[in-house]
Amino acid sequence: MEGNTDRDVSAPAIGRRSRSGAAPRSIPKGRVVDPRDREELDRILGMEVPRRDLLIETLHRLQDACGSLSLGMIAALAERMSLAMVEVYETATFYAHFDVVHDGEAPPPPLTIRVCDSLSCELAGAWSLLEELASEPSLSRVCRVVRAPCVGRCESAPVAVVGKRAIDRADVAAVVAAVHSGEVEAVIPVFEDLDQYRSRGGYAALGRCRTGELTREEVVDRLDRSGLRGLGGAGFKSGMKWKLVLQSPGPRYVAINADEGEPGTFKDRVYLETAPHRFLEGLLIAAWAVEADAAYIYLRDEYPHVRSILSAEVGRLESEGIAAHGFIHLRRGAGAYICGEETAMLESLEGKRGLPRHKPPFPTQVGLFGRPTLIHNVETVYWLRDLIERGPEFWSGQGRNGRTGLRSYSVSGRVVSPGVKLAPAGTTARELIEEYSGGMLEGHRFVGYLPGGASGGILPASLADLPLDFGTLEAHGCFIGSAAVIVLSDRDDLRAVARNLLRFFEDESCGQCTPCRCGTEKAVQLMSRDSWDLPLLLELSAAMRDASICGLGQAAMNPVLSLARHFPEILR
Ligand code: SF4
Repeated sequence: MEGNTDRDVSAPAIGRRSRSGAAPRSIPKGRVVDPRDREELDRILGMEVPRRDLLIETLHRLQDACGSLSLGMIAALAERMSLAMVEVYETATFYAHFDVVHDGEAPPPPLTIRVCDSLSCELAGAWSLLEELASEPSLSRVCRVVRAPCVGRCESAPVAVVGKRAIDRADVAAVVAAVHSGEVEAVIPVFEDLDQYRSRGGYAALGRCRTGELTREEVVDRLDRSGLRGLGGAGFKSGMKWKLVLQSPGPRYVAINADEGEPGTFKDRVYLETAPHRFLEGLLIAAWAVEADAAYIYLRDEYPHVRSILSAEVGRLESEGIAAHGFIHLRRGAGAYICGEETAMLESLEGKRGLPRHKPPFPTQVGLFGRPTLIHNVETVYWLRDLIERGPEFWSGQGRNGRTGLRSYSVSGRVVSPGVKLAPAGTTARELIEEYSGGMLEGHRFVGYLPGGASGGILPASLADLPLDFGTLEAHGCFIGSAAVIVLSDRDDLRAVARNLLRFFEDESCGQCTPCRCGTEKAVQLMSRDSWDLPLLLELSAAMRDASICGLGQAAMNPVLSLARHFPEILR
């Protein structure tokens, strides 16, 4: 952090009485707040002193008002919140969506164009789009063009986001038109609102729980018998999780992970933007079941239209008396894939950097604010209404190829009709492509697929008849995760595919542990060479798997391991 050379000696000294009881320093140590920054803060926040856990929300407010975050503003906020400046600074600089402007630097242009360069978008030409936009003369003075990790619209690749407006199947003309017409706000899609949802029986299941028609034990039993597992990637049995949370004394919380950032995954976005109340009813049922004192929704910043929808509809739930005022907290992420890891999300909800915690203790015992916390993915609670109304058989009676339940496969890549495919659990990649996605694109021959997003590995077409579900792919070095299936063809360079995935992990490593922080960087370097040093990559992979704290570092090398195992010919 840079020191301040422009100190205001009239400002009050900053200092606390030392442990020995000595008086505070008369000459302040560190940056002194400029009165103009203090006034600016007053203008934006009034006299409010934000709570510690609202630091990220407050940084958003400041950036939304000022366009960026100057060091002076960070210092003023730290003073207001009685935090060390470094605490605010390290949080602001951790998240990609905060623009911290150091002394002497020019603030960024008022408009940012983000071009997604994750795998599905790269396959669809994101890099040439990036280059063309960066050299487009009509854009250079009014905005900046940056690459961005997956924005969760892989079915419409390539995607550019102008301000807050997502442009599907983007090209230069569409982006330039949006910039020059000022169409930079998020588009709110048509969705099922509260009145429509209630007219179709919505919130009746919650009512049956709250009125005692169904007991907690009965609902947990239905969940157990259904076999519903967490649909965010880990696949933990939901009924078991509820029981674990209930075993720990209150207060308890519910935290919903709506930070789907796994490249290739977009199912939660589709459910939230079309049927928000089905999700909200599930959230309230889960909160009732574990006797939660509050529920938090951690929503990725890439979904501003969903934020608008949820914010309005939660307000309606409160005014209709369906949710108590202030019971549901909608929190805004700030561009960090790692916050999809459950404990990193908890840290972020507490207003800190999203650094994964060591486990145990597990969040069911020590979670948000140190309290037992039920963490669920959006889709997991989305199905709760059906499980209550239609019974556990609704879920357990579905499935294919010996598997049970339903899966919302996010299919993208080289297929005719990408999108969310609600299909029986255990559907194979071949079935997804041929039955659900219109087959391969013309001129493309199926050669392989990612069954579980960036971290789930890569499988060859010869293994396209495996049932896609939890536990069915591990023997082949892969896993289904959030069921993000990216289909590859003979036109794709598989080494470039793996490099794209490793570059993503390099960008998104939180940096907490050395094997992951340095390992991802080293891997990208090694994989950028014409000839790969496979023994060295495998050694690196073993170190990262064995010594990384969380799943990001442990699974980051899966693309390399998959190529070595299933496509050895391309590494020779
Ligand atoms: Fe952070 Fe990577 Fe370590 Fe996970 S493995 S805690 S992402 S550095």
